[in-house]
Amino acid sequence: MRDELSREREKKTMVPEAKSSKQFNPFEIAQYQYDSVVKKMDIDEGIKEIMRYPERVLHVSFPVKMDDGSIRVFHGFRAQHSTARGPAKGGIRFHPDVTLEEVKALAMWMTWKCATVGIPFGGGKGGVICNPKEMSASEIERLTRRFTTELSAIIGPTRDIPAPDVYTNAQTMAWIMDTYSMHVGEPVPAVVTGKPLAIGGSAGRNEATARGVFFVVREACRNLNIPLAGARVAIQGFGNAGSIAARLFFEGGCKVVAVSDSKGGIFNPNGLAIPKVIAHKERVGTVVGAEGGEDISNEDLLELDCDILIPAALENQLTGANASRVKARIVAEAANGPTTPEADRILFERGVTVIPDILANAGGVTVSYFEWVQNLQSSYWPEEKVNKRLELIMTRSFEDVFSVAKQQGVHMREAAYMVAIRRVADAIRVRGIYP
Ligand code: GLU
Repeated sequence: MRDELSREREKKTMVPEAKSSKQFNPFEIAQYQYDSVVKKMDIDEGIKEIMRYPERVLHVSFPVKMDDGSIRVFHGFRAQHSTARGPAKGGIRFHPDVTLEEVKALAMWMTWKCATVGIPFGGGKGGVICNPKEMSASEIERLTRRFTTELSAIIGPTRDIPAPDVYTNAQTMAWIMDTYSMHVGEPVPAVVTGKPLAIGGSAGRNEATARGVFFVVREACRNLNIPLAGARVAIQGFGNAGSIAARLFFEGGCKVVAVSDSKGGIFNPNGLAIPKVIAHKERVGTVVGAEGGEDISNEDLLELDCDILIPAALENQLTGANASRVKARIVAEAANGPTTPEADRILFERGVTVIPDILANAGGVTVSYFEWVQNLQSSYWPEEKVNKRLELIMTRSFEDVFSVAKQQGVHMREAAYMVAIRRVADAIRVRGIYP
């Protein structure tokens, strides 16, 4: 027992990146981020231990009938990290690289995210190992409906509320809503957020993640005396977060100098015509080859000469190997987990302001919360009200975290963790330990 404890303790002080392998385990990174902050906080040791682990994890394997008549077995996960502050909340991703460890990390980050912006949810995340780009719409529909059935024992409008994530969208959410409602025998719009407007989606939800990123970057620029007008922005990833962020920064008077997707990127030091790039992506399925841009790789985009870098794709993009070459002054994490702890340290030492995922991309889940409230009340808000409330929450949360970072002399991720962990720990403490 003693051995086990000391091994555990040793593990907690090891930087995940320090290992030789190039493969990062996202849950080890999430736990490392948590451990390195919580160890300095005055919180009961038992409560600290509770927050290190997901409350519950479900692993399912289920068959789907493919269009050619064959049967394929898929593997999926749902992790609920914490329900201390409210029902679990977080997206579902469909991606070939999904792992249980990734879903556990993403669930933990959702807990901190909801707590950072002060919305009454815990953290959850789900995923299915699949490649939707190689599946037909009806195969994806059958996969979604069967996965929903497998999850139906643990999800629900007061238990755990999924939402879109990587390679899932409003249509996916509609299928989840419909499948769950068929099981229950009545329409249950609040079981999922990010739905189409026709079935109780919220105005502004589709743009919310990117809009939130814009608000926090605007605040960061104000605090750091960087003029937003004309600022050079590079964006990695052109999904829901990246493509809409490109549009909002373009419309906001910034020069979007580079964008990319999984096939590669384009750049133009004088700024890209983003509406044309979006139209090109819609036409041919990639930003590569859009008029007015030169080719650039995803790796080079991260090191491009720019003021604001927005990783909006997947995890572990900024690492010990490239962080020293990042030229941006602000990194705003529209993606979840794009920066490893080693890169965090390097960027902090070099004076780069990293607006962490649990703050920067919290606009999505914040408007998910608005959607859930509207569903429960069967009363719908105009988009101006949604955007105004989002702006209020994002700017206030930015100021909360920024002032803790300044006061304590720590980077913004550490400050956001301090704010979030305290809120979750308080909830656990006042609720007490059952039974
Ligand atoms: N998948 C998004 C995220 O990572 C949204 C989650 C939600 O709205 O519940 O924050």
